[in-house]
Amino acid sequence: MNFNNNTRLLVVAAHPDDEVLGCGGTILKAKEAGATVAVLFLGEGISARFPIGKYDSQKFKNQTRQRIKESHCALEILKIDQFQFGDRLCTQFDQYSLLSLVKEIEEYISNFNPTILLTHNESEVNIDHKITYNAVEVACRPTRDSIPKEIYSFEIICSGSFKFNPTFNPNTFVDIEKYWDKKMEAWSCYASENREFPFPRSDKGLHTLAHYRGLENGVKFSEAFRLERGTY
Ligand SMILES: [Zn+2]
Repeated sequence: MNFNNNTRLLVVAAHPDDEVLGCGGTILKAKEAGATVAVLFLGEGISARFPIGKYDSQKFKNQTRQRIKESHCALEILKIDQFQFGDRLCTQFDQYSLLSLVKEIEEYISNFNPTILLTHNESEVNIDHKITYNAVEVACRPTRDSIPKEIYSFEIICSGSFKFNPTFNPNTFVDIEKYWDKKMEAWSCYASENREFPFPRSDKGLHTLAHYRGLENGVKFSEAFRLERGTY
C-alpha cells in the first residue's frame, strides 16, 4: 500500500472506533505521506448494549453523546480530513435494506473519489461488519465511475478474534511501528470501549495483535489487510 500527495483514502466503517482498531496506524502513515483521508461511519456503536427497542432513556442518549465525543477526539488525532457519522442501530444492520447502505456508500465514493478504500472483512462475528463488507463489495462494482483502484479489508480485534471458521487471511501488511504510540493515543479516546486483558479489545490485546501481524512480515508492529481487488 503506497501513499503520496495524490492518495485519497476512504475508510468505510460500521461503528466509531473501527477506524482506529482496523487501520489507525495506516491512516497516520497515509496522512504523513500527504494523503487526504475520509471516514464514513454507517452506524452507531451503543444500542447493542441496551434491550432491543429501548433507546429513549437518558442513559442511552448520554452514552451516544459520549461515543460521538470520543470519536471526534480520535478523528482529530488521526488528522482525518472529512467524516460522516451514521445512525443505523448497532448489531442490527440486517434490519436495513442492503440497497440503502450501498447507495450511501456509492454517493460518498462519487463525491470523494477515493484512490484506496479500506473496509471490514467478512470473516467476522459482528453482523454489521459483515454487512458493511457486503455493501462495499456491491458499491464498488467496476462498472461505475470513481471506483477506487485498490480495495482492502481490515480486521477488527475482538469481533474478528472470536470467529469459528474461516478466519481472516491477510495478504498485505503495513508497518506501523512509527505510528504505534499515536494509534494508541487515538485508541485512548475510546475509553468506554477499552476493557481489561485478556479481553481482546484491551491495550495489551491491541499490542498482541499488532506484534503477531508484525512477526508475520518481519517488523515489530503491523496492521494487516487483505487486498480484495487491485486495478493497475
Ligand atoms: Zn464495529
